[in-house]
Amino acid sequence: MIYHKSVKLTDHFYCYVWQGRGNNCNTVVWPSVLRGEHPHVLVDPGHVRNELGETCFDSLVQAMAKDGFKIEDAGLVIATHSHPDHMEAADLAIEKSGALFTLSREEDEFFHTMGKMFFQMFGGKPPQVSPSFYLKEGDLSLGAKENKLAVKVVSTPGHSPGSICLYLEEDKILVSGDVVFAGSIGRTDFPGGSPTLLRKSIDELSRLDVEYLVPGHNTEAGNIITGKDQVKRNFYTVKMFI
Ligand SMILES: [Zn+2]
Repeated sequence: MIYHKSVKLTDHFYCYVWQGRGNNCNTVVWPSVLRGEHPHVLVDPGHVRNELGETCFDSLVQAMAKDGFKIEDAGLVIATHSHPDHMEAADLAIEKSGALFTLSREEDEFFHTMGKMFFQMFGGKPPQVSPSFYLKEGDLSLGAKENKLAVKVVSTPGHSPGSICLYLEEDKILVSGDVVFAGSIGRTDFPGGSPTLLRKSIDELSRLDVEYLVPGHNTEAGNIITGKDQVKRNFYTVKMFI
């Protein structure tokens, strides 16, 4: 069963938009950007299976396969933050591919102190994988010359202490994790959440030049926001919530 809808923004940017009834995140895939035999990058592999028993990871693997991308060919898995609906399937993705794993140092520390609790709360298993390196605020350059993908890592605490967003300057795409959604913002009532920090993070994101805002979840207002004016309007609206 495939619950994801594939949305291609560029040759190197696909979003697998979650369409199941239960909770899961959207997964971003940057196909064929790394050197070598494992060229795909996955951002937020999501749940293995959610509260309604929907087979989230299986669905992602199948949806990717329809686009010609094998999970076995993943070389890097990035987590925007460590919540189960974003990171639970990291182990499975890595088992199948041998991919490296990364998140921010702050988020890794949070995961190993309070963050694992979320998995117990939601009945899942915390992933065992450890990061091969940490994501730091600033530039992350991936891939070989012809296929180079320049990514800016933006540190955006508030929803989770070490949450990050990913900005692709050339294509003006912002992967906003659980910081900002269409018409809505990330929750701050979970352990490690902070409305003050979230406000600051959203302020910082709103200064970027964004054509496509790709959030971690869909809302009633939609999922991917397209067009500079729409993105601006969305930031204007959500700033009224905090
Ligand atoms: Zn979250």
